[in-house]
Amino acid sequence: MNLHEYQAKEIFTRYGIPVPVGALAASPEQARAAAKQVGGEKFVVKAQVHAGGRGKVGGVKLVEGFDAVEEAAKAMLGKKLVTIQTDAHGLPVNSVWVEKPSAIARELYVSAVVDRTLERVVFMASAAGGMDIEEVAHNTPEKIKHVSVHPAAGLQPYQARELGFFMDLTKEQVDQFTKIMLGLSKMITDLDCSLVEINPLIVTKEGNVFALDAKLNFDDNALFRQKEIANMRDPSQEDEREREASKFDLNYVTLEGNIGCMVNGAGLAMATMDIVKLHGGQPANFLDVGGGTTAEKVTEAFKLITKSPEVKAIFINIFGGIVRCDLIAEGIIQACKQTDLKIPVVARLQGTNMEKGRELLEKSGLKITPVSDLTEAAKTVVAAAQGK
Ligand code: ADP
Ligand code: MG
Repeated sequence: MNLHEYQAKEIFTRYGIPVPVGALAASPEQARAAAKQVGGEKFVVKAQVHAGGRGKVGGVKLVEGFDAVEEAAKAMLGKKLVTIQTDAHGLPVNSVWVEKPSAIARELYVSAVVDRTLERVVFMASAAGGMDIEEVAHNTPEKIKHVSVHPAAGLQPYQARELGFFMDLTKEQVDQFTKIMLGLSKMITDLDCSLVEINPLIVTKEGNVFALDAKLNFDDNALFRQKEIANMRDPSQEDEREREASKFDLNYVTLEGNIGCMVNGAGLAMATMDIVKLHGGQPANFLDVGGGTTAEKVTEAFKLITKSPEVKAIFINIFGGIVRCDLIAEGIIQACKQTDLKIPVVARLQGTNMEKGRELLEKSGLKITPVSDLTEAAKTVVAAAQGK
């Protein structure tokens, strides 16, 4: 689960990580009031969406005067912001954060992630912070230094200093930086964070170290014991279909392609996506309806897939182990009728009662092609999606 920058900054403050003074607004008038509360003449107006890369697309504006704050907020609010980190539809801007501008001398980069291979939290730092860190990581990875943290000992001050000196901070700045890093380390453990990113962490012209941006991700499996964090969730920033899917206990992830996949079991779902790609197709989603699925679940899953206008063909790949293929076929037929399906469906049903299942599909009179061989099925659905 993700938070907005303003929420993450509020949490940072609790852990002694300095951030600029700011206030939240959901309307242009509120933005003016927020600016008055912040004080001063110049302000930074920042669109609140669950994505970075805002600075490059007009989602972060430095303005002077209250009128300009109101105008900037008006230009952002109610729109969708498309950044390098969102899909082509973008994310809705429902609030803006109005904050005091900092006099930036240097922009640094700091992050921490749970490294599953090392089974440890790894901190990363780079002097090349700011908006192009992805390029730094790609072209000059030696400019990013890593330290991994022993889970029992936690981040040690010497490790923080090592990162600080790597970024050419002065001794005073290293002291400030170390405090920030120890705060981050405690926060990660306390709140079950899976990722923290401060980009940029700045050194001000006065020589102070500040977090100008804040990104926090949390481990969804820990949210049951992080009630406060769970309550900070903003569903408007999440994929509508993924939200819908979680209601029916379906594992669903939206992807970029045009072949809707409905599969039971995560492993089979992965293999299905692989084989679709191998034959030149692009999956529109990952969907695991679960091992012990029911006709109702199949219907819901089907509705979900057909909601995407991008989907040009549907690939059903079910292994009837615990579930029976004839029940699945009934679910598919029901769903096709309910959704007034116009696109081709290729169904591969294998396992318990597969003959009965196939027979039901064939008799249904619907545009469903049963194929029993996986490679053959993948080729058929790829061709169908291309209109062949
Ligand atoms: P994003 O990562 O989404 O582009 P950031 O919060 O990192 O958004 O802002 C982008 C850039 O805007 C920063 O790298 C920084 O140069 C500038 N910026 C952001 N907040 C402030 C601020 N309070 N004062 C001065 N400059 C800022
Ligand atoms: Mg940033």
